[in-house]
Amino acid sequence: MVSVRVDVGEFSGVVPEALAFGFESVVADSAMRDARLEAVPVPVALRCRACSAGFRLAEPPFACPRCGASDVEVLGGVDVVVRSIELKGEGP
Ligand SMILES: [Zn+2]
Repeated sequence: MVSVRVDVGEFSGVVPEALAFGFESVVADSAMRDARLEAVPVPVALRCRACSAGFRLAEPPFACPRCGASDVEVLGGVDVVVRSIELKGEGP
């Protein structure tokens, strides 16, 4: 059995459940029909350019909770990344 783990940023515009459903539809008629997709939601990670504080927010506006600056750098949580593809169970 193949297990695919995908990090789904909360601001990627991708809904983890929809991604998993689409994946299962695609592999249903293939040799990978037993493959499973595990979509892991990843919160948006931000860093303040003014005071370097790191923080996470679920939704905009993106402003630093420490100093209030809105000049923040987005470090993650905006894309979809395949983290691992695992083969397990009864091999040949
Ligand atoms: Zn700050």
